[in-house]
Formats: sequence, C-alpha cells, structure tokens
Amino acid sequence: MARQRIVIVGASLAGATAAATLRDEGFDGDIRLIGAEAQLPYNRPPLSKGYLRQQERFEDQLVKPAGYYAEQRIQLTLGVRATAVFAKQKLVDLEGGERVAYDRLLVTTGGRNRTLSVPGATLEGVFQLRTVADCDRIRAATRRARRAVVMGLGFIGSEVSASLRQLGIEVTAVEGARVPLARVVGEEVGQVLTAIHREKGVELVLEDSVSAFEGSGRVERVRTKKGRVLECDMVVAGIGIVPNIELLAAAGARVDNGVLVDERCRTSLPDVFAAGDVTNHLHPIFGRLRVEHWNNGYQQGRAAARSLLGDERPYDYVHSFWSDQYEHSLQYVGFATSWDRLVFRGRPESRSFLGFYLEDGIVRAVVGLNRGGDPEDPTVDGELKAAVSLIRDRVPVDPATLSAD
Ligand SMILES: Cc1cc2nc3c(=O)[nH]c(=O)nc-3n(C[C@H](O)[C@H](O)[C@H](O)COP(=O)(O)OP(=O)(O)OC[C@H]3O[C@@H](n4cnc5c(N)ncnc54)[C@H](O)[C@@H]3O)c2cc1C
Repeated sequence: MARQRIVIVGASLAGATAAATLRDEGFDGDIRLIGAEAQLPYNRPPLSKGYLRQQERFEDQLVKPAGYYAEQRIQLTLGVRATAVFAKQKLVDLEGGERVAYDRLLVTTGGRNRTLSVPGATLEGVFQLRTVADCDRIRAATRRARRAVVMGLGFIGSEVSASLRQLGIEVTAVEGARVPLARVVGEEVGQVLTAIHREKGVELVLEDSVSAFEGSGRVERVRTKKGRVLECDMVVAGIGIVPNIELLAAAGARVDNGVLVDERCRTSLPDVFAAGDVTNHLHPIFGRLRVEHWNNGYQQGRAAARSLLGDERPYDYVHSFWSDQYEHSLQYVGFATSWDRLVFRGRPESRSFLGFYLEDGIVRAVVGLNRGGDPEDPTVDGELKAAVSLIRDRVPVDPATLSAD
C-alpha cells in the first residue's frame, strides 16, 4: 500500500497539535504542515499578556520545540498560504504554484481580525492584535507611547488594557456595551471586571463607539460617536475575529459562521476535516457552536487527529477558557449564551467567587474569579473540575448546594 499522506493547512495551535497527535497515535505516513505565518507554530495567549509586556520570550511560546518537527518527520512549509482545495482530486494549491496531493486533509486556518472600517484606520499607530508580528509592532509603539485608546473591551481589549496599564501607559477604553463582557459572563461579573479596570486607572467610555481616528500620518486622537475626543499616541482595536473559511467554502464545503463539522471534526467534503477557531462544530452537550478558546484549539486538534485515523469517538470536550487581567485570573467552563439564574458561591465584590449559570435548574457554565482552580490542571482538584461533571451530566441541582461555601 502507498504511504498515506496527511496534509494540514494552518500551522498554529490546532494544526501543530494535530500533527503531534498523529505521531503520538502511531501514524507512520507523511505529514505536511502548511502555514501562512513565517514563525514556527506558537501560542497566542501571551500576546496580550506577558509577551506584550516584554516579560516573556517568543521561544517560550512555541507549541512544540524547534527541533520537534524534523525529529518527528513532520514536513513544515511556513510563510506560504494555501490558495485552493480540490476535494475530488484531493489536491491543495499553494501560493507560488506548488500543488500538493493528500489522502486526508485537515484545515486549521483559525481566524483573522475583523476589518476595522473606521475613517483613519490606516494611520500609523492604529493596531489590531492576532499574530506575533502584530504584537511586535504594538510592543515597539509602547516604548514611546504615553496615552493609548483601546477600542472594544472584550477579552482581548480587556487584557491589552491591563497590560498597557501595567506598562505605565494611560488607557482610555471605548466600548459599546453598558457593562463590558456582560454578554459572556453576565452583568454582575462584568461589573466586577469593570470596577477592577477603573481602580487600575483605565478611563472607561461606555455605550459609545469610535467614529474616527485622526492625526497627520500618525494617530493623534480618537473621535467617538457621542462626541468625545480622546488624545492618544496609539490605538489597539479588539473588535473580534472572523473565521478563515474561504479556502474550504470555495471548495464547496458547508459553512455557517465557521466551517461546519460533525462530532468527529468531518467537514461536508470527503476526507476533509477541520479543527480549532475555524470550526462551527456539533457538540453532544452544547449543540452547534464556534468558540475561540486555546483549550478548544488544543483539544479539537487532538480529536481531529484521532478522527483522521478512523477513531469514531465524538469530540465531547466540555469547553473552557481563561483570561488574565492584572493580578486577577478568570476561568470559565461550559458554554452558555443565555441563563435564567446566576448563583454565586462567594460574594462577587470579594473578587474570589464562583458563578453558576443555570437554565431550567441545570448548570450550563461556571465562571471562577480567583477561585476554583484550573479545570485543565490534573494536579489541582479544584471546584471548577467538579463543575465540569455537573455540566456534562446535565442533572438538576439545588441552587442552595451551589451557593454553600
Ligand atoms: C492576543 C490573543 C490572546 C488570546 N488569549 C487567550 C486566552 O487567554 N485564553 C484562551 O482560551 N484563548 C485565548 N486566545 C485564543 C486562542 O489563541 C485561539 O483560540 C487559538 O489560537 C486558536 O488556534 P487555531 O490553531 O484554531 O487558529 P489560529 O491560532 O488562528 O491559527 C490559524 C493559522 O492558520 C493560518 N492560515 C490561515 N489561512 C491559511 C491558509 N489559507 N494557508 C495557510 N495557513 C493559513 C494562519 O496564518 C494561522 O497561523 C487568544 C488569542 C489572541 C489573538
């Protein structure tokens, strides 16, 4: 039998993790990992945290050490974009003209920053953050900047605000919502996070939005819809990402806010799989969802590798993510876009609490601020680990038990 060829497009967390898992699971055929970025696959979370603050080195953020790929006979093609997939012929075209044949294809193309369509967006000093190259430009700007505007206070905007404050830069954050992050964690928890930013000196401009960036060549001020004028030397916009679906959409795959995959990471195209931020996946507990979490990139990358090798087990990982802001650590497990009750263990104002999001008496998600341990860390038997079972089992629980300290 001819050697099997697995091609992976997207050389970041999900792609590199899948490649490594293929070898761990004993796959002996050819693996080719193709990525548009020039760097070895790396982890993005430090880009809004320690790496942005120049406390951490790039080499320490690699998904796998530099020598790993050659050792494991994983052929790396970096700094090259895949431009087309021909599913019937099982071919991938790369920019530069190379055509690559595969037996099975995994697409882990992640997401890119939403286009910043505000007048003045091309001025120098206006940044978005997704890649290490973006972060290096922001880092360079922080060396001269005294005042920054952060546009959008989602998790990336919140972490960037925190890091810039920690670097001693004045920060004004402009956010459309009345309570930042309330959509994800609810008003009470959003209020706690808002209070933390205020205490740390972030000026919050809420229920407003950026209408223009102004300056001659370089950004000097931000104008808001409600008429505020915010003087600044730099701007970081954290306005969300869009999934990189175009490659597979053009090949005929079904897409809808991401590439649609089933519980085994299979797209609608034969022998084409997908994992990570790019997928809208079918989950046995949560239904269809697309998440932008490191833990999902890692876990779904592993699951996709096993599916590529014929494993029929569904991907049923209970989603989780974290966010670090200043000295505070937030952990979240589960997935809830709506809830009818939020029960706290520990008072939110104490900044050390758990919040249980319930619907019809069933726990859908749990947030922990500075409490509950890390649900991912097997050495810590924390409260959040127990919460994973509650979410997985979907049995009604007495709210009094949840709130009892
Ligand atoms: C600044 C920052 C901070 C974050 N912090 C956290 C955190 O604290 N906690 C958390 O849970 N998550 C965090 N995340 C999210 C987490 O990093 C992502 O969920 C994760 O990177 C997803 O991995 P991925 O491999 O699916 O996609 P990506 O990391 O987006 O990688 C996709 C790769 O595919 C490449 N690619 C795209 N199209 C093509 C093509 N046509 N050909 C070849 N290559 C292509 C891209 O260049 C990219 O390298 C953060 C993200 C950012 C940007």
